[in-house]
Amino acid sequence: MAELVPLPLGRLVSRMFRELQQGERESAIFDLPKAKFFRGLPGRDLSVRFHGHVASTPLGPAAGPHSQLAQNIVLAFLAGARVFELKTVQVMDELQIPRPCIDATTVGYNVEWSQELKLEQSLDEYVKASMLIEMLAESEAGKALGLTREAARVVFDMSVGYDLAGISGPRVRAFIEGMKDCSAVVERLRKEIPVEHARLRDLDFTTKLSDTLTLSTFHGCPPEEIERIVDHLLRVHGLHTIVKLNPTLLGPVEARRIFNERLGYAEQIPDEAFEKDAKWSQAVDFVGRLGDTAASLGRSFGVKFSNTLIVENHKEFFPKSEKVMYLSGPPLHVLAMSLVGRFRETFGDRFPVSFSAGIDKGNFADAVSLGLVPVTVCTDLLRPGGYGRASYYFAELGKRLSAAGARDVGEWILRGQGQAAAALQAIPEQGLDDARRQACAAALVDRGDLRAAAGDAFEGWLSEAKLRNTKAYVSRLLDDPRYANAANAKAPPKVGSKLWMFECLTCDKCVPVCPNDANFTFEMPTAEIPVVKLMAPLHGGPLERDVGEPIRLQKKHQLANFADFCNECGNCDVFCPEDGGPYVLKPRFFSSEETFARFSAHDGFFVACDRVLARFEGKAYRVDVDAATGPGGGEGVKFTGPGFEVRLLALDPEGSVEGRIDPGACVDLAYFRIMDGVRKGVMDGPGVNYVNG
Ligand code: SF4
Ligand code: SF4
Repeated sequence: MAELVPLPLGRLVSRMFRELQQGERESAIFDLPKAKFFRGLPGRDLSVRFHGHVASTPLGPAAGPHSQLAQNIVLAFLAGARVFELKTVQVMDELQIPRPCIDATTVGYNVEWSQELKLEQSLDEYVKASMLIEMLAESEAGKALGLTREAARVVFDMSVGYDLAGISGPRVRAFIEGMKDCSAVVERLRKEIPVEHARLRDLDFTTKLSDTLTLSTFHGCPPEEIERIVDHLLRVHGLHTIVKLNPTLLGPVEARRIFNERLGYAEQIPDEAFEKDAKWSQAVDFVGRLGDTAASLGRSFGVKFSNTLIVENHKEFFPKSEKVMYLSGPPLHVLAMSLVGRFRETFGDRFPVSFSAGIDKGNFADAVSLGLVPVTVCTDLLRPGGYGRASYYFAELGKRLSAAGARDVGEWILRGQGQAAAALQAIPEQGLDDARRQACAAALVDRGDLRAAAGDAFEGWLSEAKLRNTKAYVSRLLDDPRYANAANAKAPPKVGSKLWMFECLTCDKCVPVCPNDANFTFEMPTAEIPVVKLMAPLHGGPLERDVGEPIRLQKKHQLANFADFCNECGNCDVFCPEDGGPYVLKPRFFSSEETFARFSAHDGFFVACDRVLARFEGKAYRVDVDAATGPGGGEGVKFTGPGFEVRLLALDPEGSVEGRIDPGACVDLAYFRIMDGVRKGVMDGPGVNYVNG
């Protein structure tokens, strides 16, 4: 189902706490196992400041699939993200996005862009996410996990696009104002908190959700337009603003030298990408002017590197209508870091820089050591393990902090790239007296408290270290083979078998790779499902019986798709070792009768305690449980479909069926058995999912 349908807050709350309260091994939230939750690094303070706000870590999901729906943001939070760059919203909120649109098997490509929800729905989702995080932090279960309010200091960073006309129009304006003061939304949503969690209804929920914004512009947005938009955001909305810049700022010669020659990628960056985008000198000019404007207004202004890179679309996977695609991942890391280097050579440490490009466990700690805030990630979290991959980022960061003797992010900036001594020397005499200088040098050697040693000069020391770290890190990157094409060309293998509704290799990769948590597992008993059809002849006479090969279920473990959260991005297909796509072929469950009816082009199920609706090959069927007394007096069900309405006993459908079967109609009892089986599997099985949660 290409259209996302958010779940009401109440259902998310119930699911979150029910899933968390399962046994130790099963305990999870939105399918992220408890073992993958970020619970801090003992003895280390990872907090950073972003536009004056404190966030408990520098990690964030980049504006994209991981910050679209409420549960995605909660998942990013659980994985350790604390600065959420929310999915870009824009006035054209009824877009038809080409599908499939994401392929992260090698470096990372996509043909998607802004938020797929309506502006008003986006506001609701972001507020719901904030409330869920706060409910978790205030709950006993959350506190037991160390997810206290202190550890949960988060920043919600808006992202809007894509031109001044849209951004200054009434709907985007209302969205921004709604994020600045979301009291009305909070008051409406608070009533949806289920009665079993009624205590949480009285929480003092955040109502000033955001006063920061990262501007996303179209590839090809003229520099004057970018400047006008940022000026508007600063002056009219009073927002602290970041402008996300494009890798094409490197210019065609340098971008192609790095991308094609040094790193060995074959994709072509079209000439028009460079022709239309801002040039370096133009960006330097508008950044300088906007910095002055922001300072005069008492607002913060910075830049983000970088947007994705436009390349020509050569992939069979994406629709042919797409002439270009957007590249991310390892090569973008090198391009974007080169821009950070160039930017800091020009501006020093005058502007905050946020970062997103090819972040993974191998370079997250390095990016943090450059003083980049936030360090956001998208492509890597689309790979097997999903949000849980962030646990490796923090494990690696923890190891490196320990080895360097850094207690917090500031000390890590000083010690992370071995530049602290040189940075200390570069602080001018008037900025640091001899006694302090010696104390700093001694603290460096003795692993002492660098902040205490430097006193007021600490920030200046950090600035020097950031610049030197950037230079040192960027100069190493071009020769690092892990960013080159050779290291990233191989897609995960396919085994050559085709998926069908039940059973598969059960590798479960499709569950965490889904940014929306749309895929889930459930259990069905192993069984042999007889395939029997009862057909009423067109011209009367007794029922005809057609018997097919039985369906053999040899594994209990089954995969399913929650249709309301699936936007058919295709990411689970590319990582599934079998062919056909889990989101296409696995049983699809709708959240309500309404969505089941609305998306009638898709086969699937709606399951409740007392009924199951199903569509097989476009035809609708219904089972009402205990709706009638079964033939012979036992408990029965009503099974209806095209041209029939029968009653039968679930334990012996064929032996008990009776009722209306119109001439020419066919009662497929295998359909009944499948409907009955999936209902029991998802409703009564051991796991918590969006159907039973
Ligand atoms: S559908 Fe594919 S990815 Fe999902 S569990 Fe089965 S084999 Fe693995
Ligand atoms: S289930 Fe698959 S196709 Fe659907 S949103 Fe998730 S990853 Fe994308």
